[in-house]
Amino acid sequence: MLSRDERQRYDRQIMIRGIGEEGQEKLKQARVVIAGSGGLGSPAAIYLAAAGVGRIRLIDHDKVELSNLNRQVLHWDKDIGRSKVDSAKEKLGQLNHEVSLETVDETISEANVSQLVAGFDIILDAMDNLPTRYLLNKAAIDNRIPFVHGAVYGFEGRVMTIIPRQTACLRCVYRGLIPQEKFPVIGVTPAIIGCIQATEVIKYIVGTGHLLTNRLLVYDGLNMKFTELIVRKDEYCEHCGNPERGDGK
Ligand SMILES: [Zn+2]
Repeated sequence: MLSRDERQRYDRQIMIRGIGEEGQEKLKQARVVIAGSGGLGSPAAIYLAAAGVGRIRLIDHDKVELSNLNRQVLHWDKDIGRSKVDSAKEKLGQLNHEVSLETVDETISEANVSQLVAGFDIILDAMDNLPTRYLLNKAAIDNRIPFVHGAVYGFEGRVMTIIPRQTACLRCVYRGLIPQEKFPVIGVTPAIIGCIQATEVIKYIVGTGHLLTNRLLVYDGLNMKFTELIVRKDEYCEHCGNPERGDGK
């Protein structure tokens, strides 16, 4: 049941056809993992906390640096040197005390990824590198947890939602490894992409609308264009492909 305060806090979204009190209850019961508390993780976490997602787990091993502040809006001047998850938890707790926030100050690795996402309803990819995204994609498929991918570069961004065993996964789309290096980015880009990811998470939890599945949304901020690339599930994909092919899944 929603309390009187909750009804008031979420009044404007409860008004939305397709959400209502029932949808708000679902948000309250939902458990979301946000992998990364930086440029994408900040806006995604802010809007998911504001929307009343009941339980949010934040994972990040980094400390706040001055060069993060152009885009990682959960972290402020005073937080430099502090753990990102602590800084994020403080702000999100002040935004909405109804949300239960968990922090994990660890690097996501092959050894811990399944344990970090187990028991959650959906994973939001707010990482900054492809190897960790592959780990999350594989863990999402193995644990049958939906996964919302997001990535940014400069004025460009990409988003795609993956429903394990049903729709194309990240590995169906990307194969190689992009060399990991410092990349350019203006803060508005992860703000837009992180908010699209949060929208996908809310729609999935509530069960409304059409998810961004089998479609890679490409955002080009310089020309202000949104383009959709149709992607297909690859039956030979090493993460989500046919079980006959030997990975035993
Ligand atoms: Zn795949």
